[in-house]
Amino acid sequence: MENLRDLDFNELTELLTTMGEKAFRAKQLYQWLHVKLANGYDEMTDLSKSLRARLAETHSAALPEAVEILTSKIDGTKKFIFRMHDGHVIESVWMKYQHGNSVCISSQVGCRMGCRFCASTLDGLARNLSNGEMLSQIYQIQRLTGERVDNIVIMGSGEPLDNYDNFTKFVRMISDADGLHISRRNITVSTCGLVPRIRQLADENYGITLALSLHAPNDETRRTLMPIANKYSLSEIMPAISYYFEKTGRRVTFEYSVVQGVNDNKNEAMQLVELIQGMKGQGHLQCHVNLIPVNPIKERDWKRPDRSKIEAFQHLLERHGIAATIRREMGSDISGACGQLRRDYLNL
Ligand code: SAH
Repeated sequence: MENLRDLDFNELTELLTTMGEKAFRAKQLYQWLHVKLANGYDEMTDLSKSLRARLAETHSAALPEAVEILTSKIDGTKKFIFRMHDGHVIESVWMKYQHGNSVCISSQVGCRMGCRFCASTLDGLARNLSNGEMLSQIYQIQRLTGERVDNIVIMGSGEPLDNYDNFTKFVRMISDADGLHISRRNITVSTCGLVPRIRQLADENYGITLALSLHAPNDETRRTLMPIANKYSLSEIMPAISYYFEKTGRRVTFEYSVVQGVNDNKNEAMQLVELIQGMKGQGHLQCHVNLIPVNPIKERDWKRPDRSKIEAFQHLLERHGIAATIRREMGSDISGACGQLRRDYLNL
């Protein structure tokens, strides 16, 4: 059965008019789906029962069920496991910050990128999430917390640019003035570096923030961590990142998961400085580096360096004029690395 939330306003209008309904019904229905966040047809009380019944024959209006919700005692972070209509489960995270509520959503069930330290990719890709399923994670979280979502990061399971059309349709719909109207400036997408898609995203200029999972300052080390580095070298990725900045004017983030003995030495920090300074030399790239202490996963042997080592890495970058932060860990008492909660739930 199709998901009614996959349809944008024009598609919804077309569906209703082919059913012989007046076009204004589309507005009412769109509101129920994307503003009032109805879970199923029963709540849509100002639409006739017969229209609802006819729609229900072909399209679902249900939100995915939250089959598990964990709340951190430390900082209030909530992790959700949602069951999709076909039984697949995904995870999303809700975080409370001073500047508002952030939600981290998944873009695929599993992932086929194969990054060595990541739990989401261990069993490969099951399927893409539709744009409606991406929206629904936010809608359901807003319903369950009773609080407005202000910021969105697409940093859960999956590679969003490997699901490009659904992902960009999601961006258009979540920022739609007739929907939840979340500002595109408050949306960040993270990618392992699919160069043609980064360029396409730059050309289409949605005004969202781009984060690149860099994780190493040279191709050789990067290849040991990320198979995608065999396909795209840094000599292709970095110009694509500059291009993104030129086209959108948005400050770019480099994510750098710090792994003991792999990419955490002074040497690598210096190479990173050179890599970024090399890019800055060609333009006025604004960027910053987000250091992520690696979350160990039981299936692999990666270790997190001592805090002092990560701080030394950060300070070296800063001394060379590169803004760098260490990612604050949220909800550390409610299961570890990205994708782990889902695996725990599935007993993998
Ligand atoms: N596919 C996208 C989104 C992935 S998740 C991407 O590759 O960017 C968001 C970030 O978390 C990525 O930088 C990813 O490399 C990182 N990540 C995944 N597992 C991790 C782990 N166990 N420890 C630290 N960072 C991790």
